[in-house]
Amino acid sequence: MRAAVHQAAGTITVEDVPDAALVEPTDAVVRVLRSCICGSDLWSYRGIIDRAAGSRTGHEFIGVVTDVGAAVGTVRPGDLVVAPFAWSDNTCPACQDGVHTRCDNGGGFGAPGSDGGQGEAVRVPQADGTLVAVPGGPDGVDDALLPALLTLSDVMATGLHGAVLAGVEEGSTVAVIGDGAVGLCAVLGARAVLGAERVVLMSRHEDRAALGRTFGATDVVAERGEEGIAAVRELTGGRGVRHVVEAVGTPQSWEMALGMARVGGRVGAVGVPHTSPEIPLFPIVRNHLTVSAGIAPVRKYLPDLIERVMDGRLDPGAVFDLTLPLAQVADGYAAMDERRSIKTMLAG
Ligand SMILES: [Zn+2]
Repeated sequence: MRAAVHQAAGTITVEDVPDAALVEPTDAVVRVLRSCICGSDLWSYRGIIDRAAGSRTGHEFIGVVTDVGAAVGTVRPGDLVVAPFAWSDNTCPACQDGVHTRCDNGGGFGAPGSDGGQGEAVRVPQADGTLVAVPGGPDGVDDALLPALLTLSDVMATGLHGAVLAGVEEGSTVAVIGDGAVGLCAVLGARAVLGAERVVLMSRHEDRAALGRTFGATDVVAERGEEGIAAVRELTGGRGVRHVVEAVGTPQSWEMALGMARVGGRVGAVGVPHTSPEIPLFPIVRNHLTVSAGIAPVRKYLPDLIERVMDGRLDPGAVFDLTLPLAQVADGYAAMDERRSIKTMLAG
């Protein structure tokens, strides 16, 4: 089969690799229908973090189950499934606590020794705990819904998790830092899923801000740093905002998040730090802030989000603004690296 392979920073190729196959009785094999490139894939592409040469890439995919191990009971060949970016057993103490991304038997697609999502097929460990079938199956689901379903494997669920960590609820006023796919999906999650009334999106890119508005952002602030903080405070009667979603993970974004939070407010952070931002403790203590952070346990949200996409209450599919065949995956990385694409989908 064909799959994308990380050769070196800046170099992704498509190679012939061994066919995805069952190894453990708890495995399934999924033929990939759609996959995509994640903002986090760019960290190794840009050489900011190391990645083993020859490792597979991609961790977001939906597809059709083609084979299951003897111990798999919840999905069967022919099912259309959404895979979270990390596999989990859904039964261990961590999963029971809702922290599937720290599952005792978990792991991530594209990690050494595992298949990546940017390929023709994927071996999925812990299939029962990981995969969620879409009602109707591949023949019952309109192709037009596939992009929306694909976002559930990471960015939509991750954005929503940020809003959940920030304590967003019906009627909330929220600020979202980060206008990448996760930040944009946090806007949508805060509004369409959690019922926020007002969402301020921090964005200085016209295309991203426009998509943010269609996802429900009521205000867009282009300024950054102290000016950005001041602008958000001005929009909120000088007091700051009660719920802040931090979807970047840099020292600058953390500084903004803590600076614009209202006294007694909450910061929900899903931006994965690839450097080591030092979080100042004093403003957190002085301003009575709650800071919650975590790599999103996507699996926990999948059943509900699949239902919302299928009945039309949630449509994050527009986050994909470029679609390429797997053979052109390198062009997709370049397009996202150069910010010509918010998020690139791979189809066929
Ligand atoms: Zn677990």
